Amino acid sequence: MDRTKVAKLIRLLSSPNDGEVIAAARALSRIGIHEIAEHVEQPETDKPGGRAAFAALELVRLNLEVERLESQLAQFTNRRCFVCDRPFVAGRADAVTCSARCRTRLYRQRAAEP
Ligand SMILES: [Zn+2]
Repeated sequence: MDRTKVAKLIRLLSSPNDGEVIAAARALSRIGIHEIAEHVEQPETDKPGGRAAFAALELVRLNLEVERLESQLAQFTNRRCFVCDRPFVAGRADAVTCSARCRTRLYRQRAAEP
């Protein structure tokens, strides 16, 4: 649909010349008067695949990403030391102890086990 042409034809409907008005109405009907009416009711931006729909999807995706990162962050911040049971912020994903001291203690405990 040529928007510029459609806009011109709609403006032509207000012409004082009846012949021009009828010609414009006929031309609009040929182009697809129902499609034009639908476009007035629901602009392109609200349609699926439109920019607003894309933005809404992007917002949902970003919210999920934030949730995922927050849960990942929580895995690092809400840990308790395996040895002394104190809460600590993990520096790496597989950290189980709060400090070098506790890590060494854990290593020695495991080495002493039969
Ligand atoms: Zn500890």
